[in-house]
Amino acid sequence: MTSLLNADLHCHSVVSDGTLTPEALATRARANGVDLWALTDHDEVGGQQRALAAAQAQGLRYLTGTEISVSFAGKTVHIVGLGFDADNATLRRGLERTRGGRGERAREMSDGLAKVGIRDAYEGALKFVGNPELISRTHFARFLVETGVCKDTNEVFRKYLTEGKPGFVPHRWASLRDAVTWITDAGGVAIIAHPARYGFTPNEEYALFTEFIAHGGRGVEVVTGSHSAQEAAAYAGMAQEFGLAASRGSDFHSPDESRIDLGTLPDLPPSITPVWELLADRIR
Ligand code: AMP
Ligand code: MN
Ligand code: MN
Ligand code: MN
Repeated sequence: MTSLLNADLHCHSVVSDGTLTPEALATRARANGVDLWALTDHDEVGGQQRALAAAQAQGLRYLTGTEISVSFAGKTVHIVGLGFDADNATLRRGLERTRGGRGERAREMSDGLAKVGIRDAYEGALKFVGNPELISRTHFARFLVETGVCKDTNEVFRKYLTEGKPGFVPHRWASLRDAVTWITDAGGVAIIAHPARYGFTPNEEYALFTEFIAHGGRGVEVVTGSHSAQEAAAYAGMAQEFGLAASRGSDFHSPDESRIDLGTLPDLPPSITPVWELLADRIR
């Protein structure tokens, strides 16, 4: 397998905060020329069986996937896991625990929004939720767009759902050690998702990469829907410096919201090891 494979190893379905079913995503991946696909719902593996069956029906190669929410250095970091055994009990329990606080957090977000005159946001967000254990900021964002409070989800995040804004509620997610260990012990590879998104200082980022590797992490997203070409080049350099394999994934959520469609990313730079080389025996 070469680095030129059209791999898309990061996207979301209705099992977390995407708007398409696993089956519709598989169809779309196939139509867009994807060779190797992974569904990576937030803190959840409930869609994995459907995704694998749909991938096989479409003739797509498949890797199991998830994206775990982690608290690190006062920020939320996402760790993608690929190629694990989705029935692993420790992983499933860990994800369940990570999902656990979302309902209460959502009620607090709704209270915060009520204070600035946006009423019944919890009930409104719930209408967009496909998985009751996975109410997320994205569902609130869709509600605020639907009701005309903002023109798009980006504006909602900027004005209401990020640190310091009325609908933001600080939350404690999994630890970096736990997330990496759950994935690795279940036979998978742990990957730092979209590193350019976190706004870490160089020191914090060095700490993230160093601790991640110490816990057994082996990959970093280089080409993703949330990196510019410059950021991709910078993290390709980081991957080489830290001896990490490189991943590629659109982070596709919705035809109406996502800038980058499934399977339409630039190739990985030729000089780095693609994560799928580490996962050859996990591809189904
Ligand atoms: P949560 O896990 O509930 O904190 O929600 C995080 C999700 O919100 C991410 O996975 C993205 O799908 C979405 N998100 C975060 N920032 C933005 C943004 N600026 N614009 C649109 N969606 C965003
Ligand atoms: Mn999301
Ligand atoms: Mn993410
Ligand atoms: Mn994602």
